[in-house]
Amino acid sequence: MTDADRIAEPDGAGAPGPVEALREIGFWLERGRAQTHRVKAYRRAAEVVAGLSPDELATYQAAGIWQDLSGIGPKTAAVITQACAGQIPDYLADLRRAAQPIGAPGKPLRQRLRGDLHTHSNWSDGGSPIEEMMGVAAALGHEYCALTDHSPRLTVANGLSAERLRRQLDVVAELNERFAPFRVLTGIEVDILDDGALDQEADLLAELDIVVASVHSHLRADSATMTKRMVYAVANPNVDVLGHCTGRLVAGVRGNRPESTFDAELVFEACKKYGTAVEINSRPERLDPPSRLLRLAVEIGCHFAVDTDAHAPGQLDWQGYGCERAVANGVDPDRVINTWPVDDLLAWTAGS
Ligand SMILES: [Zn+2]
Ligand SMILES: [Zn+2]
Repeated sequence: MTDADRIAEPDGAGAPGPVEALREIGFWLERGRAQTHRVKAYRRAAEVVAGLSPDELATYQAAGIWQDLSGIGPKTAAVITQACAGQIPDYLADLRRAAQPIGAPGKPLRQRLRGDLHTHSNWSDGGSPIEEMMGVAAALGHEYCALTDHSPRLTVANGLSAERLRRQLDVVAELNERFAPFRVLTGIEVDILDDGALDQEADLLAELDIVVASVHSHLRADSATMTKRMVYAVANPNVDVLGHCTGRLVAGVRGNRPESTFDAELVFEACKKYGTAVEINSRPERLDPPSRLLRLAVEIGCHFAVDTDAHAPGQLDWQGYGCERAVANGVDPDRVINTWPVDDLLAWTAGS
């Protein structure tokens, strides 16, 4: 069984109900890199149906009037009708059939990964609630998954103030009771500011399980400035992972962006010295770090984290892309911190 098959048949058999069918369609579309507007209709319809009582469900189904509900169109109505009739909706069956394996050469590493350390929910710029993200992470076979929404200054991504992050911690604590033994790790993707300081209160960062630090602004600063900025950040005892270090964007819907320039040797030496893992970002439009830098980090003896940076549940299955690149560039699985059991991982992040 592949990881994605677990999504298709969580308990081995049976047709999904209407909410599950709509969500699973969302999963396959996101996994296949669909534009968000194509996915939104299905996720929205799932929400609408999830809000109905069993009686209402039966009434709409019997009368065949699903499209009377706001948020349900002809395509989503067809899915709901078939699912309510106990069938596997045609569209879902097509998507399952058409799904391609992701990053097959990276499979030995993918099988060793126990979790994902960089994901976003709709609290910042992700598309889905925390609960749905984590439900899919668990269904993919993860033992843990860190929720790392953006920090305050990234206003375009609705970054979380200290107050909102504290509120999120309560939500995560409650989810952990429901999801156990699967563990939702608390976290943040914190912006590295121009001077290398971090965009969140230090006390709050210290409380979090996982702190991913990334540069999102002034990516074109000169090499000396960028190097200083990044070294300062990775040396910060609260930082556990250096996110998408070059900031580059390769072919994709977001266009292209060149790598930031910095002294990679110095930055990776600092990562090693201060116990910060270098992220292998699995997003197909990032492929960050580029292979030559990945090999340099291997040579220096860094730790790594193979993360999805998922902004939607289906993107949680992109880890295979990162694994493929890690394997191709000689990354030792034992140096990948998310192959470790959760206690070892948390002891490492707390101590470094
Ligand atoms: Zn980022
Ligand atoms: Zn991110």
